Amino acid sequence: MSLAPLPLSTQVTVLRGLGPARAAALQEAGISTLRDLLWSLPFRYVDRGSLQPLGSLEMRGFEAPEGGIVTVLGTLQDLRQSTTRVQRMALTEALLADGTGTLRLIWFNQPYLGRSLKVGDRLLAFGPVVLGRHGLEMRSPQFELLGRGEETPWVRRFLPLYRKLGPLPGRARQRLAAEALARAHPPEEWLPLELSKDLPDTLAALRLLHEPPDDSDPRALEEGTTPAHQRLAAEELFAFALGVALRRAGRLRRKGLVVPTSPELRERLKAYLPFPLTGAQRRAFKEIVEDLTSGRVMNRLLQGDVGSGKTLVAFLALAMAAETGGQGALLVPTEVLARQHAASFRRLLGPEMGAMQLLLGGMKAAEKREALARLASGEARYVVGTHALFQESVAFHKLQLVVVDEQHRFGVKQREALKEKGGDPHWLVMSATPIPRSLALSIFGDLDQSVLDELPPGRQPVTTKLLPPAQAEVAWGLMARELAAGRQAFVVSPAIDPSDETKVQLRDIQAMEKLLRARFPGTELAVVHGRLKADELTAHMDRFVRGEAGILLATTVVEVGVDVPNATVMVVDHAERFGLSQLHQLRGRVGRGAHASQFVMLSASEAQRLAVLVDTRDGFRIAQKDLELRGPGEFFGVRQAGLPQFQAADLVRDRALLLRCREAADRAIQLGLSERQIEWLHREQARLKLADVS
Ligand code: ADP
Ligand code: MG
Repeated sequence: MSLAPLPLSTQVTVLRGLGPARAAALQEAGISTLRDLLWSLPFRYVDRGSLQPLGSLEMRGFEAPEGGIVTVLGTLQDLRQSTTRVQRMALTEALLADGTGTLRLIWFNQPYLGRSLKVGDRLLAFGPVVLGRHGLEMRSPQFELLGRGEETPWVRRFLPLYRKLGPLPGRARQRLAAEALARAHPPEEWLPLELSKDLPDTLAALRLLHEPPDDSDPRALEEGTTPAHQRLAAEELFAFALGVALRRAGRLRRKGLVVPTSPELRERLKAYLPFPLTGAQRRAFKEIVEDLTSGRVMNRLLQGDVGSGKTLVAFLALAMAAETGGQGALLVPTEVLARQHAASFRRLLGPEMGAMQLLLGGMKAAEKREALARLASGEARYVVGTHALFQESVAFHKLQLVVVDEQHRFGVKQREALKEKGGDPHWLVMSATPIPRSLALSIFGDLDQSVLDELPPGRQPVTTKLLPPAQAEVAWGLMARELAAGRQAFVVSPAIDPSDETKVQLRDIQAMEKLLRARFPGTELAVVHGRLKADELTAHMDRFVRGEAGILLATTVVEVGVDVPNATVMVVDHAERFGLSQLHQLRGRVGRGAHASQFVMLSASEAQRLAVLVDTRDGFRIAQKDLELRGPGEFFGVRQAGLPQFQAADLVRDRALLLRCREAADRAIQLGLSERQIEWLHREQARLKLADVS
């Protein structure tokens, strides 16, 4: 029977062998059309060429191949469940045999495996093989259950593996993909020629990835760098870039508030400054002023390594808005930080400090009412606040500029909320994590960039050390010397989730507090963590900021920007629990005053990764390394960042492609988009949930 080809928009339910339960499982995972089905790619390929006969593992006396991961295929001969004596973990053990030898497979804490596996099952398993107490064993392998009676699981060299979706096993997904490919109608070409010219067409690309031919490059397949991947990635990235470019074109057409500058204003601003601007600060400020006076709406990212002096640039920009008959607001992620910025703005404003208003969620009702009235009347021209600024009850007299510190903590939605309050204010976003252009574009969407690539003069060097826990006394000794000299110290403990499996081996903040009290009996200790109430937290922080407490013991709240120049040591416990960029940010908290400073990481593991911080102070390089190691999702904290959720594209791997897509998108918009192209764009934006970013 030959069937008419199906457009990719066809519902998956037309496929044979897809009952209601399985269709529901697909639906649940966001797969309703053939397009959705085909774009959910295998998560891995097994290269039959690299399948290891079990006997050969023994013979090699075991030297693991690259990465220590081995792929094996065999029949389950034995299966048993038990509980480990020491930690009372469920233990599942199985014996796999393939005619050449046997191998023990072991899983921890997955008791359900005992029910889903049976002796006689054929299993394709992969995982690390190590020498255990009873010989070679594969630990916590991932596996694919092959159908009973199925002869060989492949007809080709590469076997694609799919994740199980509810009741739908990976193997069934492979069969569905094969059927969809056989029946699908090639879709229209949407990419401009400049992007598509060296790439396979969409359907061919999908086929290459679901049914890789034997001559595929295994490495490129695994890394996602084949031309087929590039084709699918280009479609996603082009849709994304087009969305951003349209938003930008829209913004440039809108009329922006013109903030009038004058020689008199410039003189007054200069008078506020405690020191001359660095060259980089001057350049950034000039770019900002050009935007504020251009008649267009500014949307600018101010990037600069920790300590590069972003706050001063922000203040100058706010002053432009506040001293020309309007208001400027600075939005920060925590109350501690809001108070600190407010205090330094008051200092800068001197006799005009009354123009500054703080707005916090934790304010008392009367205090808040008064603050809101001052915002609405325009009496408050400089506003510093937290998320409280988004609330409905907040109205501004004439909001000309919003500066957002550490943007990735605020969502696009919140930004829209604030936008509605003040007409269409200018935006300046500050980020302390220097990131490549392509990523900035991906996270922040449409924006221009200013970079502070120069540190203010007079910075004291920070010596960085990495110590194993056994040498912690070196850190405490160092701290004791600084405290004796009248300096202050930060100690950072990781925030530990009580359900964390590795918790037992970690020292939590309570244990650290005990240790510090015993080791430094004569020193006042301030302890802050996420479970404190806002006013308690502020009180403790203030004791440290005022110098009453010599040591601040904190989970990461301290990370986001307190400025205590007298602090000259920071010790980070369990440094392996932190990202490299996060550690770099933490390090930026010391070395701010007149004295040389020390940054000490205590860690029992990941010495290689952490050594990056010992080797370099370049925040850009650290961020790049961190991104490569953790991927953009982990790096930014996926959901919060509103990072686009691509199926085929990878923001780190495909960054060059993204820049090409961006240029192509600009050209496409200049040429004018057809209605069908716009339809396609909307569909892709919905499929990839891009609306929040682009
Ligand atoms: P960032 O927010 O970029 O991490 P800050 O704005 O907190 O950095 O500035 C770091 C420190 O450098 C602050 O103590 C600030 O007063 C100081 N600073 C900023 N600009 C200059 C400058 N042009 N000259 C000297 N010191 C400066
Ligand atoms: Mg800052």
